[in-house]
Amino acid sequence: MEGVGGGKRRGDDGAEAAPRAIAEYLSRDLPYELSANDIYLTSGCVQAIEVMISVLAQPGSNILLPKPGFPLYESRTTFSNLEVRHFDLIPERGWEVDLEGVQAIADENTVAIVVINPSNPCGSVYSYDHLAKIAETARKLGLLIIADEVYDHLAFGNNPFIPIGVFGKTVPVITLGSISKRWLVPGWRLGWIATCDPNGILKEAKVNQSIENYINISTDPATFVQGAIPQIIANTKEDYFNKILDQLRNAADLCYDKIKDIKGITCPHKPEGSMFVMVKLDLSYLDGFHDDMDFCCRLAKEESVIVLPGSALGLKNWVRITFAIDIPSLVDAFERIKSFCQRHGKLET
Ligand SMILES: *Cc1c(COP(=O)(O)O)cnc(C)c1O
Repeated sequence: MEGVGGGKRRGDDGAEAAPRAIAEYLSRDLPYELSANDIYLTSGCVQAIEVMISVLAQPGSNILLPKPGFPLYESRTTFSNLEVRHFDLIPERGWEVDLEGVQAIADENTVAIVVINPSNPCGSVYSYDHLAKIAETARKLGLLIIADEVYDHLAFGNNPFIPIGVFGKTVPVITLGSISKRWLVPGWRLGWIATCDPNGILKEAKVNQSIENYINISTDPATFVQGAIPQIIANTKEDYFNKILDQLRNAADLCYDKIKDIKGITCPHKPEGSMFVMVKLDLSYLDGFHDDMDFCCRLAKEESVIVLPGSALGLKNWVRITFAIDIPSLVDAFERIKSFCQRHGKLET
């Protein structure tokens, strides 16, 4: 038993079973073994983000977030008075991290860099080489990596999913995850923080202790979901995952083809993971729109199609389309988007 008041979560075998099962699950893809002591259970990945941002927020510190990104990070960091600095993801390069940009904005007060892979909102899945470069850059700058891998294994393109924790010996990685996305049970509210740190740097720096202290003063996931975790991990059939991947792959292909066919919107990179695609608006063709917000509001009003304005994600005049819906609905939605864009397109001269 470690730490102050550490008796809440550990101790009896029942409470130990879920962290142990998650440690084994994550270790399958790592070149070293995680133990139950590396795992902290949270109420979904949302609470994992809350815990990590709260633990890292020190006066004067800053954190590096991707642009476009997942808006909860902005809200959390702002709430915790942690300064945010954004680095770009580059659409023409499969939404890879602009590593030079990262080096330009990091300084001695930077505590961590957040990497979301597979990406919400971009639908990208990073290659081994790119992950290695991110890890190397973080090592050089002395940054901890916060890896949001809530879409772990939801990769259906050329790049397989690789956890950036494979580079845990290069640089400490804290991996955030949950059963919400891969198992499609977002309401069950079970997530985790995993310290992927075979060199024990985080333990030394008392980061594990801070996480534990925070966890000890916040609420646990429901015990019956915790109790089910070992079975959920051991007994979900491959077939279940494969069907989801097939469906997402078909939906992603359909999105990409349909977008090519619509004047006024373009997709620079075919989605190969998660459930999202970023689409750029051509406001020189789409007539009379102020911006992405205006586009999304009018699309909702006129066609009852809901897409997310890119400005909510840090990228103005883009929109995010979620394709985790059935194919007929997706076809219908794209027909509506097409007629909307045609109706509002400038007349060719
Ligand atoms: C959905 C999502 C989360 C939150 O996951 P929950 O397990 O539902 O709390 C965190 N990060 C990203 C990038 C997400 O898309």
